[in-house]
Amino acid sequence: MSEGKFIYLAGFGIEKRILLATAKNIREVFYSPVRFSYSSKPVSFGYDPVRKQYCAGKLLEYISRVYFPDMLKLIAIFPFDLYEEGLNFVFGIAQLGGTYAVVSTYRLFDPNERLYFERIFKEVNHELGHSFGLTHCKTLGCVMNFSNSLWEVDAKGRFFCEKCNKILPKP
Ligand SMILES: [Zn+2]
Ligand SMILES: [Zn+2]
Repeated sequence: MSEGKFIYLAGFGIEKRILLATAKNIREVFYSPVRFSYSSKPVSFGYDPVRKQYCAGKLLEYISRVYFPDMLKLIAIFPFDLYEEGLNFVFGIAQLGGTYAVVSTYRLFDPNERLYFERIFKEVNHELGHSFGLTHCKTLGCVMNFSNSLWEVDAKGRFFCEKCNKILPKP
């Protein structure tokens, strides 16, 4: 992983322990140090009052204003339901090969906390994978499998397959 750089993890209006657990997951999967920031207040940026959802692209734009020299990536977690034009909802969004990514916990919830957290880790790792330039992968169980339903999220793992792993920066 790039020397002296951090993956920044920002939480807006989500539980702090979700962030702590997600930071641990990122360290394990990306071998990267993590810095996190936490805001108990959700933002109102990108809200569409007709759809009653937040525009994922606009939230991506919102977090793109943040930059630190030691920032390798910035991934933000929001509790809101996200959409993109032409899609009913998205679990997350990222700039392919870019710096910024967004994930929503809204549709990932399950009373079984272990399952709920695991889903968040998968979507975070998936969107970070896009930010590292990875596209969707068909290898069984790879976190870069496309998922547009909870069934698909649950069917994949939180790790990258060998082929995808080769593209990620090495520690
Ligand atoms: Zn994807
Ligand atoms: Zn893969």
